[in-house]
Amino acid sequence: MPHLLLLGGGHAHVEVLRQWAAHPLPGWRVTLLTREWMSPYSGMLPGVIAGLYQPEEALIDITALTARCNAALILDRATGIDPRRRRVQRAQGADVDWDLLSIDTGATPDVGRVPGAAEHALPLKPIDALLPRLRGIFHEAHPGQRIAVVGAGAAGVEVALALAVRLDAAITLVAGASGLLPGFPGRLRRRAGQALAARKVALRSGRNVTEVAQGAVHFDGAPSLPAESVIWATGAAAAPWLAETGLARDARGFLRVDACLRAEGHSHIFAAGDVASFGAGLPKAGVFAVRQGPVLAANLRAVARGRAPRPYRPQRDYLRLLSLADGTALGTRNGLIFGGRWVWWLKDRLDRGFMARYQG
Ligand SMILES: Cc1cc2nc3c(=O)[nH]c(=O)nc-3n(C[C@H](O)[C@H](O)[C@H](O)COP(=O)(O)OP(=O)(O)OC[C@H]3O[C@@H](n4cnc5c(N)ncnc54)[C@H](O)[C@@H]3O)c2cc1C
Repeated sequence: MPHLLLLGGGHAHVEVLRQWAAHPLPGWRVTLLTREWMSPYSGMLPGVIAGLYQPEEALIDITALTARCNAALILDRATGIDPRRRRVQRAQGADVDWDLLSIDTGATPDVGRVPGAAEHALPLKPIDALLPRLRGIFHEAHPGQRIAVVGAGAAGVEVALALAVRLDAAITLVAGASGLLPGFPGRLRRRAGQALAARKVALRSGRNVTEVAQGAVHFDGAPSLPAESVIWATGAAAAPWLAETGLARDARGFLRVDACLRAEGHSHIFAAGDVASFGAGLPKAGVFAVRQGPVLAANLRAVARGRAPRPYRPQRDYLRLLSLADGTALGTRNGLIFGGRWVWWLKDRLDRGFMARYQG
């Protein structure tokens, strides 16, 4: 029986599995190879940190989802892909053969560029390891504890605010040279700045971090920032093992895909989500992985039946919602800015709706 191997239990693959459960493809065997039996939904993670959700509300039970579509589940870490032999190597077991491969393994933290970050900072990515790591910080928390969150994109801002709600700690958000919420409209950035000030989250911007050491974050030409805990929320990097696969990659190491989400030059390998590099490059945001899910599911089915896949057309703008961790949120779309309790209500409704699709 031909074999479809799904590598990584990310946001696009949970949709592939859901659709496979609803409409199985006779004559095909499906396996999911992923690291964790619970796949976290990133949109709700800051809410979990703030105590607005229980952890299980933000986790998709991969074991149950694969069982619903009669797929096999291998819990392991992929360490390599051999496209010629159609094989995936893994950390703890025999290689897995496939006829059709789809990769949705996300991104890794960008800790390699700053000395000491890998040793002394706690990265937000991969998100499947985030909650267990944060538990350590919660456990050791004490009044006045100094926490630095490095990286002031959407995830960094949401996590800093969530920690400020959850802990009696002195929190600093390190925005670096690009400032608070780069790429967001000015009015939203100002409102987020006000929300941080109201929660007594200090903001450091203007200088990039040059080194992370035990107990401190260092800058070039600016005083060091003492911090017992450092959370690393800067951009995403590609997993190093992708370099060995021989698959085409962009300048940052992510897998180049064509218009139909196929790995360039490989008709039987697909990639979606953060791991994939589409066109001139899409933001590394879960919303793209989610929107690619249905196209990926349709294309895997088409290729399995010997038919042509269809192109994926990314949306030009997308709704960006930021939880302020206090029952309100900020949002932006097509240049409009909005905020308040109803925006949190909307975000909560969308996030819970997403989870309901996969939690059975
Ligand atoms: C705190 C936080 C909040 C965020 N909030 C938002 C938000 O509100 N909206 C938004 O659009 N984006 C948000 N993001 C970004 C979002 O998390 C990512 O863009 C999204 O998770 C990418 O989805 P993905 O499917 O590509 O990969 P992931 O969700 O990262 O999933 C990858 C999967 O692959 C598995 N895996 C990885 N490597 C291997 C391997 N070698 N072998 C086997 N399995 C492997 C992992 O276990 C995981 O199951 C947030 C990020 C963070 C850190």
